Amino acid sequence: MLKQVAEGVLVRESEFCRSNAVVVQGRAGVLLVDPGVHNHELVALANDLRELDQPVVAGFSTHPHWDHLLWHEQFGAAPRYGTARCAATVRDRLPDASAKARLAGWIPPDIYEQISMDLLGVITGLPAGTARIPWDGPEVRIVEHQAHAPGHAALVIEGPGVLVAGDMLSDVLIPMLDLNDDTADPIEDYLAALRRIEGVAGEVDVVVPGHGSVGGADQVRARIERDRAYVRAVRDAEVLDDPRIGPSATFGRDWLPGVHERQVQRLAERR
Ligand SMILES: [Zn+2]
Repeated sequence: MLKQVAEGVLVRESEFCRSNAVVVQGRAGVLLVDPGVHNHELVALANDLRELDQPVVAGFSTHPHWDHLLWHEQFGAAPRYGTARCAATVRDRLPDASAKARLAGWIPPDIYEQISMDLLGVITGLPAGTARIPWDGPEVRIVEHQAHAPGHAALVIEGPGVLVAGDMLSDVLIPMLDLNDDTADPIEDYLAALRRIEGVAGEVDVVVPGHGSVGGADQVRARIERDRAYVRAVRDAEVLDDPRIGPSATFGRDWLPGVHERQVQRLAERR
């Protein structure tokens, strides 16, 4: 179900990992950001948009991870954008069908059988440094940084004042660092990204994370601080007091602590 979170901005939460699809209303149709995961949910979203008489006129993927690169033919053939680095990473990692087949091995089978990889990652890279998504609607500013994944982008929807945070600023997921071998300094990349996002925090009243709950104005800075505290604690090997993996956590209790342990271990190995 589509829920309005600000004037002209709607969100649909997916069953998978509490993923959020974002719909921004423009003059002739909508901008669709990270549409969702399960195929039946993408169809339901396409149906909802048809009922609202709102064709998709542009798409955007916040970063080159599979759960943000899916699409459905019912959304039509509008251009799907990403940053230049996002698109280049998709080309590197998913050059052909055999790469897609390998990716399938990483996705849990119960999820894999509910998704369609047909239109995965068909992304048009915007020229490096592009400031705004080219489309006929409210100005949507691209805040690119290198945390979590190469070419990761947060978006500022000017006017309604909404921050689309990609896979950062979640109330349920801890920061997930980009620990690929070609990332020189994943910790500093993440802290720099949080500083960039902090720079736009004063312009927004709503934050929509890639996974988790939509937050109000008070949540924007609180979530930046919480993510920063996590990253610093991991950097400095301090004892962590993070509610997302603590005893009161409400999400991912059976797997998220393991993600945290693996991050700590991989960081230690890199040193
Ligand atoms: Zn994600």
